[in-house]
Amino acid sequence: MSKQYCERNFKVSRRGFLKGCTLAATALGLSESMVPKLVEAAASPTRPPVVWLHFQECTGCTESLLRASHPDIGRLILDIISLDYHETVMAAAGHQAEKSLHDTITKHDGKFICVVEGAIPTKDGGIYCKIADRTAMEILADVGPRAAAVIAIGTCASYGGIQAADPNPTGAVGVQDLLKGTPIINVPGCPPNPVSFLGTVLHYFTFKKLPRTDQLGRPLFAYGRKIHDHCERRPHFDEGRFAEQFGDEGHRQGYCLYKVGCKGPGTFSNCPAIRFNDVGVWPVSVGHGCVGCTEPGFWDTMGPFYGRLPNVTVPGAGGGIVADAGSAGKKILGVTAAAVGIHAAVGVGRKLVQGKKNDEQN
Ligand code: SF4
Ligand code: SF4
Repeated sequence: MSKQYCERNFKVSRRGFLKGCTLAATALGLSESMVPKLVEAAASPTRPPVVWLHFQECTGCTESLLRASHPDIGRLILDIISLDYHETVMAAAGHQAEKSLHDTITKHDGKFICVVEGAIPTKDGGIYCKIADRTAMEILADVGPRAAAVIAIGTCASYGGIQAADPNPTGAVGVQDLLKGTPIINVPGCPPNPVSFLGTVLHYFTFKKLPRTDQLGRPLFAYGRKIHDHCERRPHFDEGRFAEQFGDEGHRQGYCLYKVGCKGPGTFSNCPAIRFNDVGVWPVSVGHGCVGCTEPGFWDTMGPFYGRLPNVTVPGAGGGIVADAGSAGKKILGVTAAAVGIHAAVGVGRKLVQGKKNDEQN
């Protein structure tokens, strides 16, 4: 592909375009030989129309996507799709904006992608989120069935997110709780990694179908493994070396963060592998535990953020390889582990050392 061709056809630089496709291919677990196929799909002159709905949310998913320190990823996404309706970034407002929504779903009936950001409140007829005098429930019921596929971006659209946290005063739910009959994929996270979203979009455009998912509707390429299985601090966990509190010697030494609240043993996501920002960091690498943001109901099930995830057997100091680190997620999030049961076996080792102390004893 010539430099001139890229510059003529894409607002993103040629280098950024190829980098984005390569990143997506890596996230998807595709071989290098598949990159040209992704490039071809992304370079198609027929840009698939996308309607992006905003409901009960903070717009953090859009912000992180478009203002990422990988600006090329945001630009690439905007270049490979035709973003016909997006309340945050579109220039139109009021009746003009609503006409744009109406025209898009009419013209591309059954062919457009619908991205939903935010939860949908259902209590009291859904009055807690209204746009152009229609409730979020009404808008989703109108737009969702006419879409070729729906991508729920973020934990709010996937499972209700913080709006659905106990006592869930507005009856907030995720898209999959209301919409039936349209293919839906969840890309949870608070916010999700832009690369996971890009990989989902590119997979759909390249292979004309959504990626394979677990029973929680998450693409396996991004949510198929536990944080704990790929964490660089895992050897410290296995050997019983922990930060007991922030700033102590263990914390300074880079020891495991389980005892200061890390929820990695119960969380499925590719964060340790894909990482964030151009400098390749992720929360655990800079000294803060994972808070489990990709899991359904994480505000309730993973709290308090600095409390220890229960039912995780941890080794004592110098404890050696642990037996059931891999089963922690199954215990705390039975539904998650059931969905991807194969992962419950990952990380299970032999208990080698006697005198291993469990969390309560520590
Ligand atoms: S508990 Fe957290 S910091 Fe410790 S190994 Fe697991 S994911 Fe890494
Ligand atoms: S490390 Fe944990 S809390 Fe942070 S983004 Fe990944 S899954 Fe969410």
